[in-house]
Amino acid sequence: MLLKKRFGIKSENLDMKIPVSRPWLAGNELKYLTDCVKTNWISSGGKYVVRFEISFSKFCRSPFGVATANGTVALHLALVTLNISRKDEVILPTLTFIATANAVSYVGAKPVFIDSEPYTWNIDPEKIEKKITKNTKAIIAVHLYGHPCNIDPIIDIARRHHLYVIEDAAEAHGALYKGRLVGSIGDIGIFSFYGNKIITTGEGGMLLMENPKWYERARLLRDHAMSKKKPYYHSEIGYNYRMTNLQAAVGLAQMERINKILDRKRQNAIIYHRLLKDVKGLELAPEARWAKSVYWMYSILVNSDFGLTRDQLISRLMAKGIQTRPFFIPLHLLPPYRDGSRFPVAEDIAHRGLNLPSAADLREEEIDFVCRTIKACSKRGAR
Ligand SMILES: *Cc1c(COP(=O)(O)O)cnc(C)c1O
Repeated sequence: MLLKKRFGIKSENLDMKIPVSRPWLAGNELKYLTDCVKTNWISSGGKYVVRFEISFSKFCRSPFGVATANGTVALHLALVTLNISRKDEVILPTLTFIATANAVSYVGAKPVFIDSEPYTWNIDPEKIEKKITKNTKAIIAVHLYGHPCNIDPIIDIARRHHLYVIEDAAEAHGALYKGRLVGSIGDIGIFSFYGNKIITTGEGGMLLMENPKWYERARLLRDHAMSKKKPYYHSEIGYNYRMTNLQAAVGLAQMERINKILDRKRQNAIIYHRLLKDVKGLELAPEARWAKSVYWMYSILVNSDFGLTRDQLISRLMAKGIQTRPFFIPLHLLPPYRDGSRFPVAEDIAHRGLNLPSAADLREEEIDFVCRTIKACSKRGAR
């Protein structure tokens, strides 16, 4: 009752459980899965894998797609395809999901971290060049939380220093950089189709590229480097990174609705922006003039004048049945990658950053409830 009065929240709303994310499986997912089971094609053979590869690569306007078991192995496969190995260095942002750096570690190369830009939260291109050494082979450009990174200057630097550019677009399917689809700009782009990503296959990933030689090589390595002509002839050590027909069946159904999913994500971001723009002490999800974000996670920064810290806000929202997520911990602060270096911009953003509920099928009342709860916290905290 007290909460009801204080926050002006209808009592039935107090029981609402709003997850930070959930898959939206409202199309042909079950139908295609049933087809896999009925036809007995449940492993990596069957028609859906190639169909999904074609559908997704066409959507991204890239000539070749290679579907994989998940996004992490897609990153690993991209690095192996480009022959990146021991003693090499790979540049990447410190503010990203750990998979980006782990894939670099898997090939024995050294991840070299870069600080974030204050506005887009992505890798700061101006800080890249002084980290390039004679061992640097590639830059991984991550498009964080659905907002493209400023990739033109990165491509520029890479061309001047003869480096590859790998795009980690795991969080940004459909995002536009100066009108171009992310994941098809660099040498190889990778995507994830984990359950909380823009579209999902449960677990899943994809590499996109233009170079036919890399395409053939990635496909070979995905399947234990087995010769197409001679069964069980393996020219080198490859991997089993194949996607199953079951995963691809879900993926194809998701692709039929990807534009709808993207529209809803954008619509949700517009509502969040409208409801939160006047709240003191919050910085809202950015969108640069040159970008079209897909708002994978609608994110905010909680400043000191909000009245509560980010972590206090997380607990208050949780108590109302609203699940949120703090930003990734910058990788240079985690045990596997800690070496005493500091990246103040990334640390500051990570410390204040919060992902709000962002499911594509979120209802307007749910967003309204989240925003009203945040506003109520801000008033109470300031008192
Ligand atoms: C999700 C994600 C990955 C890894 O994808 P998985 O499919 O979970 O292995 C890689 N990079 C980023 C930035 C991600 O968000």
